[in-house]
Amino acid sequence: MKLVVATNNKHKLIEIREKLDGLCQVVSLAEIGCFDDIPEYGDTFEANATQKAQYIKSKYGYDCFADDSGLEVDALGGRPGVYSARYSGEDKDSEKNIDKLLAELDGVENRSARFRTVVALTLDDEVHLFEGVINGVITTERHGSGGFGYDPVFQPEGYVSTFAEISLEEKNRISHRGVAIEKLYDFLKDRMN
Ligand code: IMP
Repeated sequence: MKLVVATNNKHKLIEIREKLDGLCQVVSLAEIGCFDDIPEYGDTFEANATQKAQYIKSKYGYDCFADDSGLEVDALGGRPGVYSARYSGEDKDSEKNIDKLLAELDGVENRSARFRTVVALTLDDEVHLFEGVINGVITTERHGSGGFGYDPVFQPEGYVSTFAEISLEEKNRISHRGVAIEKLYDFLKDRMN
């Protein structure tokens, strides 16, 4: 079975291929000749992931899955949420995003937050959704140099390190994206039996 994953991000591709190994052949957008700027106008993770997967299915005819993720901070009423990448501006600069987050949370006691991913899969003319969440807190300073995005200021529950300080393998095992892809794996495995 061949499934398109609506990304060209190398890190995501490696992680997803490892997780779905043996179940299906995962191909990237570039591999199906798609270089489009895929529309993403929703204001929920579900809406964006679904829109991306359905866009590929209807334009290219392949079953596809797409993910949409972000950081939800309780003291900010769930922001930046779907706007996590462009929280501080259209240039999607992670360092500026972290600066803005730390400034908004300056002196704030409740630092609870979570990363959330929704994966949408088109299969047999239906859309299936899988969610992954990891709870944690926003630290007061950056720690660590690994990962990407908000990793240096996100400390997962039960850990004393941030996402930027733990190994990629460990992060992929516990992360929002890892959990959602694991659910996708279980679903596909069931369908094949
Ligand atoms: P995407 O939907 O996976 O592209 O994620 C959107 C944005 O959410 C990213 O640009 C990051 O700012 C943030 N984000 C999502 N997942 C992570 C993560 O695992 N670590 C840090 N930031 C993340």
